[in-house]
Amino acid sequence: MVGLAFIGALLLSTFQPVFTAEKIPPRVEARMRGSSYPEEGTAAVSLDELRYLRLSYYDFNGVPQTGEMVCNAAIAQDLLEIFEALFEARYPIRSIRLVDDFGGSDDASMLADNTSCFNYRVVPGQGHLSRHALGLAVDVNPFENPYIDARGVVRPPEAAEYVDRTRDFPHKIDREDLCCRLFRSHGFIWGGGWARSRDYQHFQK
Ligand SMILES: [Zn+2]
Repeated sequence: MVGLAFIGALLLSTFQPVFTAEKIPPRVEARMRGSSYPEEGTAAVSLDELRYLRLSYYDFNGVPQTGEMVCNAAIAQDLLEIFEALFEARYPIRSIRLVDDFGGSDDASMLADNTSCFNYRVVPGQGHLSRHALGLAVDVNPFENPYIDARGVVRPPEAAEYVDRTRDFPHKIDREDLCCRLFRSHGFIWGGGWARSRDYQHFQK
């Protein structure tokens, strides 16, 4: 009989990391329609301009996983390179799932600490399209790295304990953080450096 520890070690050693980008497959479009993408017709960004990525990462337990992300074709290569570098460094990421797994709800995705990119939505409280609506922004480990708007409203509200960035805690994104350095080296702007609102999870190009 083969021990469970051995099988576990075998699974780890045989994990095949995946970093691929392709046009939105029909099965993914079906998941997006009526959720992160309009039910019918075309949004400000067409499906042809979007890419479906498969990205491997290490979860918070140090276990390799492969997630899914939809982004604008213009940043697909950047994201493949950034997430491959994060994987090689074993940078911990809670999960990388499509917001469609959360009913297209950004709040639900953030509450689950999910890393994601495309979602056809407006900026909360402002009404104009977010960079996420063009697939040009990524939110990483959003629960430990919340968004604090100019009025001081925290999103997700449950993450209030992570507003104080003078504190040290796991998965905190600051300027020296590897993820932050990688995104910036690829020409992205980090939301944690903004003057009025602070969006510690957010990188946009
Ligand atoms: Zn964001």
